[in-house]
Amino acid sequence: MAISFSLEGKAALVTGANTGIGQAIAVALAEAGADVALAGRSEPAETLALIAATGRKAVNIKADLSSIEPVARVIAEAEAGLGKVDILVNNAGIIRRDDLLQFSEEDWDAVIDTNLKTLFFLSQAAAKGMAARGSGKIVNIASLLTFQGGIRVPSYAAAKSGVGGVTKAMANELAARGVQVNAIAPGYISTNNTAALQGDETRNRQILERIPTGRWGRPEDIAGAAVFLASPASDYVTGHVLAVDGGWLAR
Ligand code: NAP
Repeated sequence: MAISFSLEGKAALVTGANTGIGQAIAVALAEAGADVALAGRSEPAETLALIAATGRKAVNIKADLSSIEPVARVIAEAEAGLGKVDILVNNAGIIRRDDLLQFSEEDWDAVIDTNLKTLFFLSQAAAKGMAARGSGKIVNIASLLTFQGGIRVPSYAAAKSGVGGVTKAMANELAARGVQVNAIAPGYISTNNTAALQGDETRNRQILERIPTGRWGRPEDIAGAAVFLASPASDYVTGHVLAVDGGWLAR
């Protein structure tokens, strides 16, 4: 049997796809043949245009994912627009930086709610249809801080470590229903999320010194792993966190 990376006939939902990693993933899924729904709080005009240029259908769903309030509506609108959700990419995420000794409850709750709580409940809502159809793919965007503690980002490290945990928990219960759940741990990727780090001369140098590939990642560097984990080629891969980090974790 030929190995297939094709997503033709599939419907995908990507969160936080107006920019950065989410945009690159949404466009790559469309290039691989999927119709794509985008859920986020900002207008994703550029992403919609890039998907339209591939000839695939794009649906825009306005939603603030800082709470689980819009979860049922997001899945309902994606299913109404595309007929179903075969692939869910939980990409939307935030980061808050502060010294540990003064880290606030607000910075703790905001990051845990967006990066972990919404990710779980959106996955749960999408998985109901996937389980009923006997197939589906959930791809969570984790982080190097799924494995490490980081500096000045305790709620982010906690949330992304939690993403690794719920990825495995969901994978275990959904495998028998034909649904694979995996995560991608991006290394240091040049996006809005890391603008502060890139702008800090010392941290930027320290980061580059540790990356064997010798450069910051680009959002497109994450897209191939996402297409793989969304495609039939990964049907026997589940509960895995795949690092795409230029070799950072190998050091
Ligand atoms: P980004 O450019 O800041 O993108 C984050 C996306 O999440 C944006 O679309 C953002 O929308 C959306 N988002 C944030 N809060 C939201 C909310 N309450 N409701 C709806 N959408 C929301 O950063 P990125 O680097 O591409 O990040 C994408 C994912 O990769 C995140 O989960 C991040 O933690 C993870 N990641 C990034 C790196 C890296 O080095 N860049 C490394 C590891 C993991 P707005 O534009 O409206 O804010």
